[in-house]
Amino acid sequence: MEAYTEKIREISERLLKDGTVEAVIGYRKGSVENSNEPCIVRSSEKINDLVWDSNCRINLANYLTNRKDKVAIIAKGCDSRNINTQIIENKIKRDQLFIIGVPCSGMTKKEDSSDLQENCKVCHHKNPVVYDELVAAEVEETKVDRYEDVKKIEAMGVEEKWEFFKDLLEPCTRCYACKNACPLCYCPTCFVDESKPQWVGKGMDPIDVRTYHFLRAYHCAGRCTDCGACESACPQGINMRHFTKKLEKECFDQFAWEAGLNSEERPPLDTFKLDDPQTFIK
Ligand code: SF4
Ligand code: SF4
Ligand code: SF4
Repeated sequence: MEAYTEKIREISERLLKDGTVEAVIGYRKGSVENSNEPCIVRSSEKINDLVWDSNCRINLANYLTNRKDKVAIIAKGCDSRNINTQIIENKIKRDQLFIIGVPCSGMTKKEDSSDLQENCKVCHHKNPVVYDELVAAEVEETKVDRYEDVKKIEAMGVEEKWEFFKDLLEPCTRCYACKNACPLCYCPTCFVDESKPQWVGKGMDPIDVRTYHFLRAYHCAGRCTDCGACESACPQGINMRHFTKKLEKECFDQFAWEAGLNSEERPPLDTFKLDDPQTFIK
């Protein structure tokens, strides 16, 4: 990891000095143990703030929305796919970016630095899918069944599913750390804050808590990269990826779609073709 940090600093310094970019978006040591935090470096004096290790859980694509400057950004596999998603959704232009790609060996759990995050254990895209320069040689991709957890829930009966999701969301305080950490949640006014119409109540009624989670997951359908930033941000340890992962699986099963693999193809749920072989469109 030391070598990665050194290379990131070297590339960043070069890009800032020769004026290729105005800023570098990366990670620095955080004030909380085992948690690096995002940082924006604008001058050579701050280059040594930049670090890389298995505590870089935050998805930096979150800091690209509507930027007007030219920036370098550190991108592991998942971040690179969210960068493509931001480009597809017109939130940033490719030519505003210099992508410093980091082949990723996975992020560890905040509470146990010897164990990988659940999403990283089943990640199929550890290498950045788009980059301008890589900090190291690509790592080997693993091909495990990434939907084993979803299939277990699918196999449950109705009652069991009800209890499972009731228990899952019981500790939620609606702090919204999950949506704030997510690079897909950039709407100027989130549906939870709308008052005309009010889509969902603002209190702790379980129906409202569940509605928040269901609707947020649907808004991420076909766009979520399973980066795990939402889950790692949750102070209550709630595995809300159970919702987004189910929809990710549906997009894969029905449309052979994985979000953000390139910056040209739009997600299946925001496009249609008049000659679609199914009749629903007519
Ligand atoms: S999901 Fe995990 S293993 Fe995959 S690129 Fe992201 S941080 Fe790395
Ligand atoms: S971060 Fe956790 S507690 Fe906060 S709203 Fe999301 S699921 Fe609920
Ligand atoms: S919903 Fe969670 S896993 Fe999916 S892109 Fe957003 S932060 Fe990442």
